[in-house]
Amino acid sequence: MKSPPFDYARAASTEEACELLSQHGDAAKVIAGGQSLVPMLAFRLLRPSWLIDINEIAALKFMGLETDAVRVGACTRQCVVARDDVLAARVPLLRQALAFVGHTQTRNRGTIGGSLVHADPSAELPLVAQILEARLLLRAKSGTRTLPAAAFFAGPMTTNLRADECLEEIHWPVWRERSTGSAFTEISRRHGDFAIAAAAAQIAVDDEGRCTRVAFGVGGASPAPIAFPELARHLIGNTLDRTKARAVAQEALVSLEPQSDTHASAAYRRHLAGVLMTRALQQAYEAAGSVQ
Ligand SMILES: Cc1cc2nc3c(=O)[nH]c(=O)nc-3n(C[C@H](O)[C@H](O)[C@H](O)COP(=O)(O)OP(=O)(O)OC[C@H]3O[C@@H](n4cnc5c(N)ncnc54)[C@H](O)[C@@H]3O)c2cc1C
Repeated sequence: MKSPPFDYARAASTEEACELLSQHGDAAKVIAGGQSLVPMLAFRLLRPSWLIDINEIAALKFMGLETDAVRVGACTRQCVVARDDVLAARVPLLRQALAFVGHTQTRNRGTIGGSLVHADPSAELPLVAQILEARLLLRAKSGTRTLPAAAFFAGPMTTNLRADECLEEIHWPVWRERSTGSAFTEISRRHGDFAIAAAAAQIAVDDEGRCTRVAFGVGGASPAPIAFPELARHLIGNTLDRTKARAVAQEALVSLEPQSDTHASAAYRRHLAGVLMTRALQQAYEAAGSVQ
């Protein structure tokens, strides 16, 4: 099917995009890479009267290295982030997760911000944002505000972005501990499909192999990707083996609300979530131990 008719505006600046959003409100949609929006228009799941194209806004395409964070402009293409070695050294989970996001062709157009705003419960980047506690800078005509990832994601394909706001940039925290390892793992029917379930972990260890910082979470098994900061804190001060990783993953399963759909039953998603969280924790711990 073809999309319903719409008017189109190509914004030259974020301010102009916000001005257009304030004029058209709920009737308008931002278009970035179009990799999710265009199929939704074609299926008539969305019927905006206006599309506001942000692809020409240079100020939304950048990567900035700071001491404790990497700033990424919302319209930066996924392929650009995946290829950047400096960024991969600072926030390795981004490259690890992007390897599972769609295909080369979709990553060439798809943007970091578009994936976060689309907020698919199985999407990889929202999971990374949750576990690293990324911060999202939102701009409206009236001003800016910053939301932590935990407050940004509201449910399946739903965020707390207001109709007149544009996602401007994302701050990805950098862990400065010397011995830090991370892992991203998922199961999907075919490579490039959305995950049935996915898990990610990042762990820092001291010279004796005791965890000094832990973050982990799971996607595809709840209305939005979910991180477990409280359970992660319980691992601090301890070494980690498969039994401990499995025990903490099993505790995490209690708060999940997996759904059944045509791809997998809720029970299978729950099972996968446990297996994948165990695997991600183990792999991240081993990777941390191998960094000297
Ligand atoms: C074949 C195929 C396979 C895919 N597989 C995966 C996968 O495995 N994992 C995965 O995560 N994704 C997958 N995707 C989706 C892909 O990652 C998209 O790139 C991403 O979901 C949306 O990014 P986009 O830049 O294309 O955004 P668009 O499609 O342009 O927009 C998506 C939504 O975000 C809004 N939006 C975009 N940017 C902004 C902004 N700066 N401010 C406010 N609102 C904004 C739009 O209004 C729209 O609602 C796949 C897509 C295809 C076509």
